[in-house]
Amino acid sequence: MNRQTKKEPGLIYVIQKHLASRLHYDLRLEENGVLKSWALPKEPPTTGAEKRLAVEVEDHPLGYEDFEGSIPEGEYGAGRVEIWDRGTYQPLHRDQDLREILIQGKKLRGVYTLVRIKDRRQGKENLWLFFRNKNQEKAGLKNEKNSNRKSREKIK
Ligand code: MN
Repeated sequence: MNRQTKKEPGLIYVIQKHLASRLHYDLRLEENGVLKSWALPKEPPTTGAEKRLAVEVEDHPLGYEDFEGSIPEGEYGAGRVEIWDRGTYQPLHRDQDLREILIQGKKLRGVYTLVRIKDRRQGKENLWLFFRNKNQEKAGLKNEKNSNRKSREKIK
């Protein structure tokens, strides 16, 4: 990581692999002083455009992105937690049903989308889809106005 990369503003991004009763991946994004969290039942997509289910779960406090270790038997989420990927992200678009983000991790890099699934029958509002945008360049262009050349290159 060079100095210029370090200086770029970035919010916390982490994915913790959680070997609980059911293996899942906890995606956490810093938003307004907390870590917004989604549990993904399947491995997050690193290159392809496959859409993954993401279940919105409770916010976690800042600092939890560093946690690795074992949650003891009998406690909620008992099992091993390990950091699967981490880095920073930049929000490109955010509203209550949609996040478009530029992830700069080690495994996940590029523009990703989280979109809430509307399920009127069930009335559930905690189900989302998480995927890597098919067209990385097009998606990245939205952010070009207030971005420099260096971050454009990263999007490709
Ligand atoms: Mn978990």
